[in-house]
Amino acid sequence: MVDFALTEEQKGIRDWVRTFVEREIMPMENEVLRREREGAAPGLTAEEGRELRELARKSGFWGVQTPVEYGGMGLDAVTAAVIEAELGRTFLTFKFGGEADNILFHADRRQREEYLLPTIEGTRKSCFAITEPGAGSDAKAIRTRAVRDGDHWVINGEKTFITGGNEADFALVFAVTDPDKGADGGVTCFIADREAGWTSEPIDTMGERRPASLVFSDVRVPHSAVLGEEGNGFRLAMQWIGKGRYLLPARAIGACERLLEMAVRYANERTTFGAPIADRQAIQWMIADSEMETEALRLLVLRAAWQVDQGADSRHHQSIAKLYGGQKANEIVDRVMQIHGGMGYTRELPIERWYRDLRLLRIYEGTDEIQRRTIARDLLTGRVKVGSSLD
Ligand SMILES: Cc1cc2nc3c(=O)[nH]c(=O)nc-3n(C[C@H](O)[C@H](O)[C@H](O)COP(=O)(O)OP(=O)(O)OC[C@H]3O[C@@H](n4cnc5c(N)ncnc54)[C@H](O)[C@@H]3O)c2cc1C
Repeated sequence: MVDFALTEEQKGIRDWVRTFVEREIMPMENEVLRREREGAAPGLTAEEGRELRELARKSGFWGVQTPVEYGGMGLDAVTAAVIEAELGRTFLTFKFGGEADNILFHADRRQREEYLLPTIEGTRKSCFAITEPGAGSDAKAIRTRAVRDGDHWVINGEKTFITGGNEADFALVFAVTDPDKGADGGVTCFIADREAGWTSEPIDTMGERRPASLVFSDVRVPHSAVLGEEGNGFRLAMQWIGKGRYLLPARAIGACERLLEMAVRYANERTTFGAPIADRQAIQWMIADSEMETEALRLLVLRAAWQVDQGADSRHHQSIAKLYGGQKANEIVDRVMQIHGGMGYTRELPIERWYRDLRLLRIYEGTDEIQRRTIARDLLTGRVKVGSSLD
């Protein structure tokens, strides 16, 4: 049986999030655009984000995928994807509270009290730090080194493009602990408090994100700062990256929907040469292609999420969804800008902002080329068979 219907519960959650986005977040959009035009930092302020999270919490919306025993909602991957799509309908980046990095759940009893629970509560902030100036796609090439010194480890190295790295109280930092083994048992993840001495510098980007470069210069952490097992860091890093890849293109679904709605409205309103531009085939085809691709993206994302819920190996389909989402969202925002003509290029409307922000989807958490590499390798090695997606 193939069933494309959401459950009544999923529809209820989707509708609740849609209303929350429309009532609480969208009314802030114009004000944020105005602030940005005047040179303010992009996006919601930390205080605005906190107030929105608290408001949602009062309605029980807290910890979307956090297990119920940790006070979360413990929702499945399909529902999480549906929620992301709704959040994507605004260009203002917002996440519900009550979440922690999935690998923090490997914490021991002390780490659980000191890091995991406060992160879920929102009183402490983490960042995930693997990328280095010389190691991005090729994460196995990291050179940050941790050397044992009695009951401590001494960390030296540089990390770059770390999301939240400027705001984090602690870093989940990956360092080589056994150069002979490298990624195969020689990388360890450490929970490093900012007070241990690492420093951060913001990196300006073309979009809303302001990641950071982190410098570790003789940073000493106790052995108890090891997350999980010594030498098991690379596997943890892959678990972090792999878990929610479908959520990135899920958010793009919402952006594509909202952009397409803007294009439809504008095409019907804007008149040239005595007729609405909606009457022109050139415009209709851009609208048709955008609708077709948004619907295809929705199915790819939900399929990958469904596989996660089945406990199946979803890597292949998560890569397909991420690649397709990055490509198509960028094509769609470009068409929607085209349909809006000069207005699309201004900073009065959010289109140019989305144009800059959506570009990131083709780069972070696995570039387009790395997704293609995964997909092709799966087929070429026979790990995945052509046409086996319904098996
Ligand atoms: C805003 C932002 C936030 C980020 N957040 C984080 C974070 O929180 N934590 C973290 O650790 N990292 C983070 N990153 C890093 C991100 O994951 C990397 O930038 C990304 O993986 C690409 O690595 P790179 O920039 O070193 O590019 P490179 O790996 O140097 O790639 C350069 C180009 O070569 C291509 N390429 C590389 N290898 C191959 C290949 N084998 N075949 C074909 N083409 C190839 C790439 O696709 C790309 O086009 C973030 C990046 C950005 C921009």
